[in-house]
Amino acid sequence: MNISENTAWLFDYDLTLYTADEHYVLESLDHRITLFCQNTLQSDWDTATRIRKEYLQKFGTTLSGLRAMHGVDPDDFFDFIHTRIGLVYPPRSPEKRAIIEALPGRKFIFTNGRFDWSFAGLKSMGILDLFDGIFDLSLMHWEGKPATSAYDGVKNFLRVQYGGNLPEHIVMLDDSERNLLGGKEAGFETIYVNPKLSEKAFDAQIKSIFELPQILGYQQLITNNLNHV
Ligand SMILES: [Mg+2]
Repeated sequence: MNISENTAWLFDYDLTLYTADEHYVLESLDHRITLFCQNTLQSDWDTATRIRKEYLQKFGTTLSGLRAMHGVDPDDFFDFIHTRIGLVYPPRSPEKRAIIEALPGRKFIFTNGRFDWSFAGLKSMGILDLFDGIFDLSLMHWEGKPATSAYDGVKNFLRVQYGGNLPEHIVMLDDSERNLLGGKEAGFETIYVNPKLSEKAFDAQIKSIFELPQILGYQQLITNNLNHV
């Protein structure tokens, strides 16, 4: 994989920038989403849980299903689920910071959530200042990955960031095969970040973000940086 200062890194947030070991972060959000479904559908908890998963599968995101089937307003949805009640954020990690900081090029978030969720998480991990922007679901007009329009949108966003042209390399990192296949289709280089192996032909696969230096060959740089922390 060719990387340079003219590489744009598109990091998914959930289960990509924090690891599968920190799945409790996403579970705290899923709990809020289920509660929102329960209120909207006036249903019991088990039905709301089933619907949350069903819409995610069928419509790409739970929100898309709620919009199509129940006319839910996206901001009402996110105002409810992103309230800090019961939400958990990933812990501070100097090692993660060193890994991302040492990557050449500019880094962005490309997430199917609203910006405030990843913003708070990046802040909690102590890595917010390493990113040049968050391309969130509102900027995708609420139609997230893997809809083609989401990738067209992020390309337009990058053109603006780079003064009119796309950067030489665009590398997308995501824990979702489905989202990453969309990225491949859009012409991005792809890194699958998931403890489970994929059969798909991505450019690279890692179990977690912590393996990034190994596959990109900048391990020594990290070790040096961390020794100075
Ligand atoms: Mg994810």
